[in-house]
Amino acid sequence: MTYLRKGYSRKETSQSQAIPGSSQVENSAGGFSWKVDDWKRLDRFLILGSEGGTYYIHQEKLTRENAEAVERCIKEDGARVVTRVVEISESGRASKNDPALFTLAMCASLGDNPTRKAALENLSRVARIGTHLFHFASYVEDFRGWGRGLRTAIGNWYNSKSPEDLGFQVTKYQQRDKWSNRDLLRLSHPKAPSPEHQQIYSWITKGKGETSSKIIEGFERAQATTNETELAYLIKEYGLTIEMVPTQFLTSSLIWSFLLPNLGYTALIRNLGNMSKSGLLVRGNFPTNEAITTRLTDPDAIKKSKVHPIGILTALLTYSQGHGIRGKGEWEVVPDIVDALDQAFYISFGNVTPTNKRLVLALDVSGSMSWGEIAGIEKLTPRLASAALAMVTYKIEKKVVLLGFQDKLVELDISRHSTLKGVEEAISNLSFGRTDCAQPMLWASESKTAIDTFSIYTDSETWFGKIHPSQALDKYRRETNIPSKLAVVGMVSNGFSIADPDDSGMLDVVGFDTATPEIISQFIEG
Ligand code: CA
Repeated sequence: MTYLRKGYSRKETSQSQAIPGSSQVENSAGGFSWKVDDWKRLDRFLILGSEGGTYYIHQEKLTRENAEAVERCIKEDGARVVTRVVEISESGRASKNDPALFTLAMCASLGDNPTRKAALENLSRVARIGTHLFHFASYVEDFRGWGRGLRTAIGNWYNSKSPEDLGFQVTKYQQRDKWSNRDLLRLSHPKAPSPEHQQIYSWITKGKGETSSKIIEGFERAQATTNETELAYLIKEYGLTIEMVPTQFLTSSLIWSFLLPNLGYTALIRNLGNMSKSGLLVRGNFPTNEAITTRLTDPDAIKKSKVHPIGILTALLTYSQGHGIRGKGEWEVVPDIVDALDQAFYISFGNVTPTNKRLVLALDVSGSMSWGEIAGIEKLTPRLASAALAMVTYKIEKKVVLLGFQDKLVELDISRHSTLKGVEEAISNLSFGRTDCAQPMLWASESKTAIDTFSIYTDSETWFGKIHPSQALDKYRRETNIPSKLAVVGMVSNGFSIADPDDSGMLDVVGFDTATPEIISQFIEG
């Protein structure tokens, strides 16, 4: 008689089949999971992007799948898409702004009239710096022509800046993606709102001319000088940034010492290696090192810069290995800087509320999670990213079991005191393996451990198991009478989740969103 039950059980179904009566679909690994809806997919795309693809899905195909989901959302409710894009972009929840710019370009092209209008009206909120505007220009071109509405929006972008800010933008962000300020101004041809604007427009389009902009004056003088001491003075006098300084000076420790106070947080963490190479940031140079570590761990500076934890993690991984990821030159690593970046990573998540509940943090460390990259960062695999993200919760909670799993549990050499560097080492030495996302619940069942919430960090490409994760959770709930919850932290922008959308005790969240740890906390609290 067991063959009948085995063939059609709703309580214990092999992952190679859909749960009978459910809406499960086949995932890329040949197992069965749920399909996330288009709005969830929009969020995944905005936050995680599609760069690098996944183990199973090529970058182009993943981008296409995501763009198709975005298009369906635009058809359904274009205004809602624009609102979401602005919300996620402005809050700094995503590590890169490109998916937001791309989606806004789609809204500005494929939406109905009100959607297109709303997208263009919000251009300055999503394209906050010149580089963003150049990216937007190259995206939007693929979808539509340069009609009047679009030209006006680009012109407004320049017109809406104060002359001071405009001077700063056009000297700091000169060109990208085959687009320059000159191209965009010639195309959009805005009617200048003031004589100061007019001077700057003319300086850009003609490449010369008098302006009343102090920063442009400083920029021109910096371009003309061949004297290091003079350049140092100009940097201080005019508040010049790296982009405004001729590149041949960027090996000088004197120049870096003058640039340092002018560096934004993101520029600071991206140039730690360069500062070390120049001889400025070295062991024993206490005043400089202290100034930098203080800046790195300043909560206000972190908040104001909207730097994303992925940016900090990347800087840490890059800086601590003593040479650039692309292999140009090496430098002496100052351990205090690595420690400061470690602290900064946690600070960048803002306040996360401890729940004091009994938790399992389960990391999918199967083969597919060790392939591909988050946000196009080499070395930042989904499994390393999820381990780093889990650490945020691990550090603040008291009752935590951290598990690694493939098709069985995997020992992880990670404690709540591990450094991110230590986490990277613990994660990168693991072998590849098959995937069974039911493992964390099966472990709790077998070991009779009381758990309130399971958080599983995964790509949801589960396929190797006799029972589905959602069924394993139900089984655990029945056995223990604990109404345990499951938070599924999606680490790639594919269309799958192991969370049952009809079970309010299961939540699907987007991984590596700065809001994720707090969303999980609130879900656990109910
Ligand atoms: Ca897998």
